[in-house]
Amino acid sequence: MSGIKTLTHFYQEIYTRKTPKSREIWLKMQQIVPYGVHSNWRIFDPHPLILARGRGSKVWDVDGNEYIDYNMAFGALIVGHANPVLVERIKQKLEEGTIYGFETEYSYLLAEELLKRFGYEMIRFSTTGSEATMLAVRLARAATNRPKILKFEGHYHGTFEILAVGLKPEPRQAGHPKRPRSVPAGLPYRIMPEEYAKYVVIAPWNDIEAVKQIMREHGNDVAAIILEPIPMNMGVIPADKEFMKSLREIADEYNSLLIYDEVKTCSMWYRGAQEYYGVKADIVAVGKGLGSGLPFSAVLASRELMELIGPRKVPHGGTFNSNPISVYGVYVAVKELLTEANLAYTHKLSDELAKGYKDIIEDRKVNAYVSHVANRGIVYFSKEQVKNWRDVKTKVNWGVWYAWCLGMLINGVIPQALAPDDQWSISIMHTKEDIQKTIEVADKVFSEIRGKLVTPIPLEEAF
Ligand code: PMP
Repeated sequence: MSGIKTLTHFYQEIYTRKTPKSREIWLKMQQIVPYGVHSNWRIFDPHPLILARGRGSKVWDVDGNEYIDYNMAFGALIVGHANPVLVERIKQKLEEGTIYGFETEYSYLLAEELLKRFGYEMIRFSTTGSEATMLAVRLARAATNRPKILKFEGHYHGTFEILAVGLKPEPRQAGHPKRPRSVPAGLPYRIMPEEYAKYVVIAPWNDIEAVKQIMREHGNDVAAIILEPIPMNMGVIPADKEFMKSLREIADEYNSLLIYDEVKTCSMWYRGAQEYYGVKADIVAVGKGLGSGLPFSAVLASRELMELIGPRKVPHGGTFNSNPISVYGVYVAVKELLTEANLAYTHKLSDELAKGYKDIIEDRKVNAYVSHVANRGIVYFSKEQVKNWRDVKTKVNWGVWYAWCLGMLINGVIPQALAPDDQWSISIMHTKEDIQKTIEVADKVFSEIRGKLVTPIPLEEAF
């Protein structure tokens, strides 16, 4: 690298000066933990923040810096940090033991509540989103007796290999944008046998003609089409409602099932993304969005499909499934906190934040635009709208995005989950004042960034 100092370097220096204790802990940690983090999504240059505590919309790092938080644990905390209602109730529950290896009454009450809310007949709980999407795929394969899954390029469904294909492939390896190759995650390392990837057929998001073409070729072998109804592992890229309707029709035409991975979207609307699109899936996987900070996920579907689960049928188990703390906490969250009124409040704040960013972008004439839906959103540093993974990879200036994040961080705002492919989340504990303060900070940072040299960064596969 040349010796030219960019705005990015300048911000990095301030960030490092403000967070010496985070750096010290992270330096020690990275000696014994790869990259000094326990999830690849948390890698951040020059070092990640090490946090001490959170409350409401705020978090504090180990150096005592306060931040307005829009990461909200990658969208897991729509109830807010340490929501007092939840804390009080969980405290009481903890006294009764953390896990029994038996069901509790709340296993029933929560199951009943979620089935009513999302409109399905049967449900099974797991602990992580990855486990829920894995069960959904197994169910689809068992129900159809077909081996293949169609997934969309850039969509993420968890850490396991069944779906760790076509995540964030390099375009030069990924084939034609309308006929993407099934590129396994982790290349050049072989984390799975090559054949596995072939069972995952990859389609471009938002391109119904391409999906039809791919289904003409593979449709009779496709057990299910799985998707993030709002892809939120490459920012926020909602589909046209027509696209979603057509996907439903195509799935029906080929007798394939439609799976919504609502691990994130389940806390955007009261009934999840099917409420937004008006299109119902056969199987829904929900997770952290409802978990409210507790390890929780679930699969919901018809009785006919769910009765395929069982001994010598579709395997499903897990020591921590429906543990009493998660189940009780999620029950309190869905009954008292993630209500229609409270979610509408998060939408309103999110609209205000989006408007604030849009106005600044216009005033400051920055090459950027805002994509936001319900309580999530992102600033894409691109003039053109992005519609799929290839656009995200090639049209967005991620170097400016990174500098912008650093600028916001050193001014006390975590503007989104700090992976370039994530987004902001607004909780029921964010306030109008938070939004106002964030817009003031953003105005300062956007004006500093405009026209300045920043260090380019490539958008790589984080996972
Ligand atoms: N699906 C989606 C859409 C996700 O965003 C995530 C996590 N980011 C997962 C599945 C996996 O969930 P977990 O990390 O709880 O395994």
